[in-house]
Amino acid sequence: MNTKTNELKNSIIFRYIIALSFIAILSTTAFYLLHLSIKDAHSTAYLVNNSGKQRMLSQHIALDIHRIHDNFNGDKVTNIYDYKLNKQILKQHAKEMLQANHILSTGRLPNNTKVTLSKTIHEMYFGKLNIANRVELYAKAALEISEQHKHTEIDKIKQIIDENSKELLVDLNKLVVQYQVEGEEKLQNIQLLETIAWIFTLLVLFLEIIFIFQPMVKKIVSLSTSNDEVLQNLENIVELRTLKLAESNDKLEYLASHDPLTGLRNRLNLEKHIELAINNYKLHHAPFAVLMFDIDFFKDVNDTYGHDIGDYVLVELSKILQLSVREGDNVYRAGGEEFVLLLNRIHYEDSIVLAEKIRIKIQKHIFEIKEIKFSKTVSVGLFHSSILEAKDVKMVLKLIDIALYKSKNDGRNRLTKVDVSMNN
Ligand code: GH3
Ligand code: MG
Ligand code: MG
Repeated sequence: MNTKTNELKNSIIFRYIIALSFIAILSTTAFYLLHLSIKDAHSTAYLVNNSGKQRMLSQHIALDIHRIHDNFNGDKVTNIYDYKLNKQILKQHAKEMLQANHILSTGRLPNNTKVTLSKTIHEMYFGKLNIANRVELYAKAALEISEQHKHTEIDKIKQIIDENSKELLVDLNKLVVQYQVEGEEKLQNIQLLETIAWIFTLLVLFLEIIFIFQPMVKKIVSLSTSNDEVLQNLENIVELRTLKLAESNDKLEYLASHDPLTGLRNRLNLEKHIELAINNYKLHHAPFAVLMFDIDFFKDVNDTYGHDIGDYVLVELSKILQLSVREGDNVYRAGGEEFVLLLNRIHYEDSIVLAEKIRIKIQKHIFEIKEIKFSKTVSVGLFHSSILEAKDVKMVLKLIDIALYKSKNDGRNRLTKVDVSMNN
């Protein structure tokens, strides 16, 4: 893996960790809020119920005491069973009221949770209204009745209860209303908190998209684009190298098949092309001629004027030959001071005319260099496809050699045609 890909991998991991951490924190907070709100809702419901129960108990107690009082006829109890039952019920109600008063005034619930009382409720319990104390006195008075047997004492306490019960009921009702109001307020606050948590979650997700995921996508895209660019560059380089290789190959092929001094094709090409001409003749009877020119006494040029002048003669001669042929005919340097013309689709007679024309042209040409002037002649050998059926290149070149040798022997500066007698 390269460094860029590694960097990207690390940055993606880093961004994922941050994004997931945010989501984890958010979901934990939302869970905790929900947990708190459910717990709070339970406590609030419990308190509202208890305050209502307390209000109801205050009425029950007043009623219970009236029933006990009604059990008396003068100082005597009329129905002892009812009397005892009523007292038992009163005792139970008084105890329950004391218990409710304790829970409501301290905020300490039986399940060990502690609810902080609001300022208003605290004020109602312990301030001017002094409900906590009044309820306690009220319930304790009721308890006292449940323990008392003397009619006069019961009557006395009943009067106190009667005096207080109406006012206490009104204040306990206020308390119930206050608990309900506060409970609803709490519920509204919880709802508000949940809405805020929801909006905040959406906001965090939105910010994560903008600051975490979008830059991440951009980074990935830019890396893959730069990879594409690298690939494109590589392709370009390969293409260029291939092109250069092809160029070099062309150059090599040219060097291998051409003579560096004259720029003419060399013997390699000559043999290939003669072979093609032979095949073409065999298949289509397309006539062809091969002319070989050998400079007479060329060695003398080198010996008299130097190698450079010799080279100059070779170049000049190659130009004369090139200018003498038609398009499609080729000139070759077969080696040393020997040149060959391959003439395609030419009749025997025309090839003789052309060979003679070139021979005379060369004879007449004046080589002029460094104030040196001289002329040279060439001996020529001619092969034509119509005279002898050539089996292969070797045979053609061998026959021409014989003809050329004959031109030399016969006194040079002349043309000798290959004839049937030479094929032995
Ligand atoms: P002939 O009439 O019998 O052909 O005589 P000649 O002197 O032309 O033939 P010979 O074979 O004796 O000599 C050919 C000479 O051509 C010998 C060689 O030094 C010269 N030669 C061959 N290639 C080159 C070349 O590229 N440049 C130069 N300057 N001379 C060359
Ligand atoms: Mg020669
Ligand atoms: Mg020669």
